[in-house]
Amino acid sequence: MEKLIITAALTGSVPTKEMNRFLPVSPEEIAESAQRCGEVGASIVHVHARDVEGRPTLDAEVFARMHRAICEHTDLIVQISTGGRAGADPEARSAAVRLIRPEMASLTTGSTNFPDRVYENSIGLIQQLAVVMRESGTKPEMEIFDAGMIPNAVELAEKGLAIPPLHFCFVLGNRGSMAATAKNLLFLSESIPADATWTVAALGRWQLPMATLAIVMGGHVRVGLEDNLYYRKGEQASNEQLVARVARLAGELGRPIASPGEARAILHVGDRP
Ligand code: ZN
Repeated sequence: MEKLIITAALTGSVPTKEMNRFLPVSPEEIAESAQRCGEVGASIVHVHARDVEGRPTLDAEVFARMHRAICEHTDLIVQISTGGRAGADPEARSAAVRLIRPEMASLTTGSTNFPDRVYENSIGLIQQLAVVMRESGTKPEMEIFDAGMIPNAVELAEKGLAIPPLHFCFVLGNRGSMAATAKNLLFLSESIPADATWTVAALGRWQLPMATLAIVMGGHVRVGLEDNLYYRKGEQASNEQLVARVARLAGELGRPIASPGEARAILHVGDRP
């Protein structure tokens, strides 16, 4: 079985320090958290940016500061979020990718409901983001909230807007999209192209069981405070605790952990057409 790639989703758009005292918010805090996660087994960090007030921002300069700080101290693959709750304008959502040309970025290939709003990603917007990533040499991670988003991602490859093999992230347990069940994870993992890779990001209490399934199924795992604030019920987690637990589980289950360099090879990060 392929080595296990652990992604740490460090901050997200929704959590606050009031919700979890370990949440990294400033570019410097995010870089420190990334370094600690790398030391315990992460090879990718998925990052969002916050302004000085701690609110989500798409300011490319903030992303650039964060990116520099992470790359100064680690060899981790930096995956920039182009989604979430920071706005619906394609120019704004792709500004950081244009400026930084990161190794990876997230790309949600459809719309869904969040508890408080619609997460809107039209086909036009998806294609615009894909073009920017392609031009920037950035590998997209296709964020899949529902099965219907998979053919949208495959279509990007068919149109030449994304370079196969594609990489998917199944986001499970969001109220309004697919539930975090073994059946859904199996179904999704069998619904992607044969040469594609996948990881699972499950929300809240589903993070640990879905991560465990992915380890034994041959998928990859995303954990971190973006998706889950707790180590166990009532006990706040830090990013590195969540990464270290997955690394320990993988060790017990006989699945070795990929270094950042090995993750680049597995995911074809940096491949050119
Ligand atoms: Zn995110």
